[in-house]
Amino acid sequence: MRKPRRSRNGSPHVVVVGGGFAGLAAVKTLAKIKPPVRATLLEQHNYHLFQPLLYQLATGLVQPADIAHPVRGIVRRYRRTSVRMATVSGVDLDAKQVLTEEGGAFGYDYLILAAGATTATFGIPGVEEHSFPLKSMPDALRLRAHLLGQFELAENDPNEIDKGALTVVVVGGGPTGVEMAGALHELFKHVLVHDFPELDINQAKVVLLEAMDHLLAPFHPSSRRHALDILAKRGVEVRLGQALDRATPDEVVLKDGTVIPTRTLIWGAGVRAHPLADILGLEQTRGGRIVVGEDLSVPGRPEVFVVGDLAGAPDGKGGLQPQVAQPAIQEARHAAQNIELTLKGEPRTGFVYKDKGTMATIGRNAAVTELPNGARFKGALAWYMWLALHLAYIIGFRSRVAVLVNWIWSYLTYDRHARIIVAVEPARRAGAAPPAAAPSPAGSGERPVLS
Ligand SMILES: Cc1cc2nc3c(=O)[nH]c(=O)nc-3n(C[C@H](O)[C@H](O)[C@H](O)COP(=O)(O)OP(=O)(O)OC[C@H]3O[C@@H](n4cnc5c(N)ncnc54)[C@H](O)[C@@H]3O)c2cc1C
Repeated sequence: MRKPRRSRNGSPHVVVVGGGFAGLAAVKTLAKIKPPVRATLLEQHNYHLFQPLLYQLATGLVQPADIAHPVRGIVRRYRRTSVRMATVSGVDLDAKQVLTEEGGAFGYDYLILAAGATTATFGIPGVEEHSFPLKSMPDALRLRAHLLGQFELAENDPNEIDKGALTVVVVGGGPTGVEMAGALHELFKHVLVHDFPELDINQAKVVLLEAMDHLLAPFHPSSRRHALDILAKRGVEVRLGQALDRATPDEVVLKDGTVIPTRTLIWGAGVRAHPLADILGLEQTRGGRIVVGEDLSVPGRPEVFVVGDLAGAPDGKGGLQPQVAQPAIQEARHAAQNIELTLKGEPRTGFVYKDKGTMATIGRNAAVTELPNGARFKGALAWYMWLALHLAYIIGFRSRVAVLVNWIWSYLTYDRHARIIVAVEPARRAGAAPPAAAPSPAGSGERPVLS
């Protein structure tokens, strides 16, 4: 491969799009490579979001600043790296320029695209308009305000209960749906029961819908059974083999005709690549992910790498890498290392994922953990492993301490400090119409105010 051209100051310029798990791992690695490069990180928010704890934000366990860290505060320690808060709107692949909604154009020698994923609703009628996704900070705050608002509504008028005010339907029995269902149940039965003493809390229910005949598809059958047993024992209504047909503001209808009155449909059933993938004119895989070769660059565009949830990186077994944090981090490091090899005039290497295991939490003292050597853990031990690992990956000592204090407080007292109603703007899905066109779910009592 020919050695690339240099920027005016002598160092090649690498533009990284997205400051999530992958984007941050990329800029961190780029700061260390030799010969040195200049890197510019383009991120639409001024913070990096720790998505795995979004469900704790939505259920009042942690605060926004506990799971979000200013991108500038992270990147300032990396040499030759700058940040722009900008929303990328396109890439001119021939001119090697990244274009932003703010009107900026960033020339690059190498590009690493790491814009992540968004929610896939599979075209099910009503889901786009009436469900709560859980991908962003506003999503979680909106859901928290709505849930608490429904309890306030029901206390003012108990007739609202029969209309679904206290019924939450979670769709998707993967890790996100399972942890959300478990956390909601704990919020209702251990916290809101005391906040709303005049309400019959037994009427508050969490229904978890899964189209397959088991929960936690990526896990061993014994872990799946454990998750099902725990949720059922704790009072979550798990409906396996049942798929959603349609949703309205006041009810969901299942494929078998069952109607469940609810104002709160939480969508945890699918992801697809960020819509940026759809406008670049690059080949895409199932779920809209951008096709990349083993070196993680785009075929025919060796200077463009795609990593993380946005990438359709091969898993070496005929499939694609899972859209979770570890592959995203490892792919980003690998792309940066391949840039280093190219700059040295050496051949690139193929990406090989180092499996570090999988885990999912179900609720207090309950989780499942599976290690690559086949060892499996469940119950309290797996839960402690889950807590320790997630704590370790949160960025920033202050956030780690804050989350730990919240967890210990909640464990000892069953309290959830952050059960605050904050109004946020109505949902705006990536690639969807502007906010005014997206109505709040009915009965939420939300006023569009601040984000
Ligand atoms: C609720 C939830 C729970 C999860 N739990 C787990 C878990 O327990 N374990 C696990 O391994 N994985 C979990 N995941 C998945 C994991 O978070 C993702 O796989 C991971 O974040 C992917 O990293 P990424 O860098 O590719 O994308 P992201 O982390 O999503 O980062 C993408 C970044 O790009 C930015 N961006 C997007 N578009 C633009 C644009 N046009 N211009 C500029 N910036 C842009 C975004 O703001 C974002 O910061 C969870 C995900 C969710 C939503």
